[in-house]
Amino acid sequence: MIAWDRVSQEIRRESGMTAKVGFVGLGNMGAPMAEQLVKAGHDIQVFDVVPASVEKAVAFGATAAPSLAEVANGASTIITMLPAGAHVRSVYLDAGGLIEAAAQGTLLIDCSTIDVETSRAVGAAAIAAGHEMIDAPVTGGVMAARVGKLNFLVGGEEASVERARSLLDIMGQRVLYAGDQGSGIGVKICNNMSLGISMIAAAETLMMAKRLGLDLKRTHEIISNASGANWPLANYCPLPGFVDGVPANSGYKPGFSAAMMRKDLRLSQEAALSVAASTPLGAHALAIFSHFCDSGDAETDYSGISKMIGGDAWDYPFEPKG
Ligand code: NAD
Repeated sequence: MIAWDRVSQEIRRESGMTAKVGFVGLGNMGAPMAEQLVKAGHDIQVFDVVPASVEKAVAFGATAAPSLAEVANGASTIITMLPAGAHVRSVYLDAGGLIEAAAQGTLLIDCSTIDVETSRAVGAAAIAAGHEMIDAPVTGGVMAARVGKLNFLVGGEEASVERARSLLDIMGQRVLYAGDQGSGIGVKICNNMSLGISMIAAAETLMMAKRLGLDLKRTHEIISNASGANWPLANYCPLPGFVDGVPANSGYKPGFSAAMMRKDLRLSQEAALSVAASTPLGAHALAIFSHFCDSGDAETDYSGISKMIGGDAWDYPFEPKG
């Protein structure tokens, strides 16, 4: 069978239709994102501290760079997808890091989910050094990354966002402009605080209905279309059998893990503290998800919180009463 992806990649390379793009951080998200860019015909040079991750990327057609300086060499754009703020600071700001190694005018795109303070500090340092920088954290998870259907929440100069758009469009289905640099990450953290709180509200609501002996199918249908509706209840139901295709229907395999939700809720509370915002429900949601993670469910989908909330009332299947 002809590997059309490879053929199109070769044609684009030979016809000079490629831009050299650096990619740093080849984990669960970064590797499939880089692979989408390779499939689209881009010349991607990659770096990760884990050599096995680099080898896997070479197998799908990327070029290995032995250091950050080499990943920056000749790249007009560099994308990073790293675990947390400390990694982002180190990769960009350290001696020999991307800000020092990249040529003036390089477009830097950080897709990591990190704290707003780090995002703004790194962005300011990059711009002061003569680069362009945007923050472009994602929603969507690994499955969306594999098929190029991420959503990017983007912060930065509009001209820089336009410059990034053709690459973001390959990795994602939507590019949502949030405002100046650091705004993408700010919006993502605010959104995920609301999401964590809402998921707990959905689970509490349905599990109380169950203990009251209500017909859960009818309860779910009524509330999904009533004033008490929220996004997880209606679209990402934490109980199995009410909404198609959600992790609750397949043993709470993530999806979006409870550990990821805990991380984002922690970021929300750091952000709240930094600006004296009152977020008692956000703080409580963090405590609830931390307890869930510490009880051995860190890698369960975050909707699995319904099991902890339901306690001995949680059982399967959740059939409507006869
Ligand atoms: P991951 O831990 O799987 O991958 C991170 C990668 O960065 C690893 O390969 C690691 O070796 C590499 N790395 C760490 N320090 C480095 C350094 N100094 N230089 C080069 N490489 C380095 O994480 P992930 O699941 O891919 O998530 C990445 C980011 O995306 C996180 O900020 C996460 O919160 C966010 N995110 C993840 C998901 C998800 O479903 N996994 C969804 C949305 C957003």
